[in-house]
Amino acid sequence: MEKNKKLSNFITEIIDKDLEANKNDGKVYTRFPPEPNGYLHIGHAKSICLNFNIAAQYNGLCNLRFDDTNPAKEEEEYVRSIEEDVRWLGFNWEKRLYYASGYFDQLHKYAIELIKKEKAYVCDLTPDEIREYRGTLTKPGKNSPHRDRSVEKNLDLFNRMKSGEFPDGSRTLRAKINMQSPNMVMRDPVLYRVLHSSHHKTGSKWCIYPMYDFAHCISDSIERITHSICTLEFEINRPLYDWILDELGVHHPQQIEFARLNLGHTILSKRKLMELVSESHVSGWDDPRMPTISGLRRRGYTPSSIRAFCERIGVSKVNSIVEMAVLEDCIREELNKRSQRAMVVLNPLRVVIENYPEDKEEELDAINNPEDEKMGTRKVPFSRVLYIEKDDFREDPPKKFFRLAPGREVRLRYAYFIKCNEVVKDENGEVVELRCSYDPETRGGDAPDGRKVKATLHWVSAKHAFATEVRLYDHLFTNRNPNETEEGKDYKSNLDPDSLKTLDNCYLEPSLKDAKPGENYQFERQGYFCLDKKDSTEEKLVFNRTVTLRDTWSKLEKRERFTRS
Ligand code: ATP
Ligand code: MG
Repeated sequence: MEKNKKLSNFITEIIDKDLEANKNDGKVYTRFPPEPNGYLHIGHAKSICLNFNIAAQYNGLCNLRFDDTNPAKEEEEYVRSIEEDVRWLGFNWEKRLYYASGYFDQLHKYAIELIKKEKAYVCDLTPDEIREYRGTLTKPGKNSPHRDRSVEKNLDLFNRMKSGEFPDGSRTLRAKINMQSPNMVMRDPVLYRVLHSSHHKTGSKWCIYPMYDFAHCISDSIERITHSICTLEFEINRPLYDWILDELGVHHPQQIEFARLNLGHTILSKRKLMELVSESHVSGWDDPRMPTISGLRRRGYTPSSIRAFCERIGVSKVNSIVEMAVLEDCIREELNKRSQRAMVVLNPLRVVIENYPEDKEEELDAINNPEDEKMGTRKVPFSRVLYIEKDDFREDPPKKFFRLAPGREVRLRYAYFIKCNEVVKDENGEVVELRCSYDPETRGGDAPDGRKVKATLHWVSAKHAFATEVRLYDHLFTNRNPNETEEGKDYKSNLDPDSLKTLDNCYLEPSLKDAKPGENYQFERQGYFCLDKKDSTEEKLVFNRTVTLRDTWSKLEKRERFTRS
């Protein structure tokens, strides 16, 4: 968030009212609570920005807490990646890094307290039986036959669950609420289950683990969270959140739900992203096509562009799909102001300037960023043999094609006017070289006699350029909502087989030899690119296209604004 810009949404309205009523002694304390079972995605960024920015705005604090109650799916690798991603996004939890597993002892004590209050009981039903007894939305549930066990019996059984006497799934501890409740969540939910599985933090200490709903509210309470912000699907869990804390009589944060981010042409579900990785539909969690923070980073997105995006989309109570174009527009806007320009030919066509001396070389001045004069200029070498973009030449140009064609003159950016005199083809009839002439009077790109050309092309000098690989990306999925599929198919049937296009014979101007990872460049007329740290080698650099130059979305928006006013 910009330093002086304030968030204003339905959540800040709630907080403002709380502060007015001096609730929580005027404190605001939030947390970001990921489960370490995958890498973070852009939806998490929305939650991270919201929680950290709200805390900052009210001089409060925001914790990072791992909700690590499911040892079967959680791993240290995910903990590390989550920390890295939150930090990279620009947020700082200082010393406030917590784990739900750090509260296992306390949670266990609270469970015993509920048993003693006759608010929890050990149930011997199997998971299938529990499901059957629970009823449905239209059918009330049935009480478990073990619901009315004595406190002593429950304490004994719970203790034996803890000491490892019972196999997985054989017994649970359940809250004693109401099997007839219209809210299914309140039908005696499971609080603890037996799971003989070692935990990434607590090792083999426990063979019973608390359920998310039990651990989450108590963790919030222990940390003195004031506003527990979560996504809408937890709205139906709120009565349970409140019930547990009320029964225990402990500090009671207010749960507030907001609509999760859905982004067009991609998916934001860790489970499905995991599937794409494990089934090798992508190269990893950080594949530049992935909506993960690590994927976006590798793609060339900056922390500030992602924060700007989260600010732009705002928060609300209504689920919707945000277009990918909104995200692309945020990075494009930033990189237009900031990034160094360069000339790179993606699909090279050889051009020989016949009237340019064989051994002559020149250094021409090129502007680093027309949006920012302070970024200065650089030298680009010019010589007799050049590469231009294949697409910039047509032997038989259609009506609106103004670029190079036989007999036609165009400008080479920062260099000269050239004219195409002859087309050289290979044995298959493919154009392999253009023989051109240049006008020495047009150095820098203007003709002293005032004659005009209709196109300006980028180019590189063949003997100075160096070869590189460039990767162009498209949406991972062909349709806006990948979850909408033909009958009998799943979201993966909507994967776009052409989402990655690799060009392995591109030519960079020499200034890019020292391209650094983490720096963004505009390849003139092609888009914004960054070096791929992972796949670049001494022999060959690899560049990723972050985004194209086309910005239809903002143009549309501007037009709309224009017609509205
Ligand atoms: P997923 O659905 O991708 O598996 P999750 O909710 O299971 O996500 P958690 O690790 O539990 O993942 O999420 C941590 C926090 O991020 C939670 O508070 C959750 O509500 C929030 N969050 C997750 N996905 C989104 C999203 N798409 N938009 C906004 N917030 C999200
Ligand atoms: Mg979750």
